[in-house]
Amino acid sequence: MTPESQSTPSQSVNLARLHKAIRQRLQSLKRAGLTHLNPPISTDWDPSKLPNTLTQTEELAVNTAVEPVTVAIPDPPLSSINLPAGSTIQKTPPPESPEKPMPSKKQIQLDVVCQEVAQCTACDELAATRNKTVFGVGNPNAKLVFYGEAPGADEDRQGEPFVGRAGKKLNEIIEAMGIQRKDIYILNTIKCRPPGNRNPSPEEQVNCSGFLQRQLEIIKPAYIVCLGAIAARSFLKVTTPIGELRGEFHRQGNIKVLCTYHPAYILRNPSKKRDVWEDIKFLMKDMGLKIPKKYL
Ligand code: URA
Repeated sequence: MTPESQSTPSQSVNLARLHKAIRQRLQSLKRAGLTHLNPPISTDWDPSKLPNTLTQTEELAVNTAVEPVTVAIPDPPLSSINLPAGSTIQKTPPPESPEKPMPSKKQIQLDVVCQEVAQCTACDELAATRNKTVFGVGNPNAKLVFYGEAPGADEDRQGEPFVGRAGKKLNEIIEAMGIQRKDIYILNTIKCRPPGNRNPSPEEQVNCSGFLQRQLEIIKPAYIVCLGAIAARSFLKVTTPIGELRGEFHRQGNIKVLCTYHPAYILRNPSKKRDVWEDIKFLMKDMGLKIPKKYL
C-alpha cells in the first residue's frame, strides 16, 4: 500500500487544492516572464523515485471541480514566494523599452557608410596598420561640422575623432560657443591613422573623399569649420596658406566654409588662441548664436 492510497477523502481534496494553487501560481509567474525554476542540482536526484503524490481522483478534482472558482488575487512579489531551497528564478528580459528611440533615417544611412569604411582597404599601409577606423561622430542633423586632419593614436585606439589632447582643446572651443559636442558633427580628411602621425598623402585623401562626400550629403550641414591647413586645403582644393584662408566664408555649394588654426597648433602656440576665437565669433554671429558677454 502506498501512503496516498491510505489518505482520507479530505486529505485528497487538500492535495488537489494544493496542486491547483501551485499550477495557478506557476501560470501567473509565467505570465510575469518566468521561464525556469532551477532545482538544486543533486547527483542522486531521480524523478522516477518520487512518490506518485496524486491519485486519479485527485487529478480529476484538480482538472474539474475547482476550476470554475476564479478569484482575482493580486500576484505577490516574487520575493514572497516560497521556493525550494537553492532554487533560482530566471526572468526573461522585458521587451525592448518603447522609450528607446529608433535610429533616424540619417543615422541608418550613416551606419551603412560606416560599415563600408570599417572594411575599406583602399590605402594598403593605413589598412594594415590601423587599429580602428575613425568614421566621425556627432549629430546626423548637425548644422555645424568640424573638419580635422587625420586620426592620431588616441583616435585610432578609440575609433572616435578628436579624443586626445587636441580633442580636449576642441571641446573647450565647442563649450565656449555655448553648444555641446553632441550637437555638432566631427570628421577628418581621412578615416585611418597615418603611421607616426605623418600628414595624410594626397592619394589617401582622394581615396577617402567619397566617404566624406556621402557623409556630408546625408548630414547636410550649413557650416563647416576646417581645422588647420591640411583640412582647409583638402576641402577647398587650394594651396593657399591657412593664415590667408581665415576671416571669411568660402562657399562650397550650400555650405559656408570657415578656416581656422588646428587645436593642436593652439596647444603649441597659445598666442594663436585669440585668432581662433575671433574666427569662432565670426561664425557664431552668422549662425545667430549668442556670444557670451565675457568674450565680447
Ligand atoms: N584628432 C583628430 O581626430 N583629428 C585631428 O586632426 C587631430 C586629432
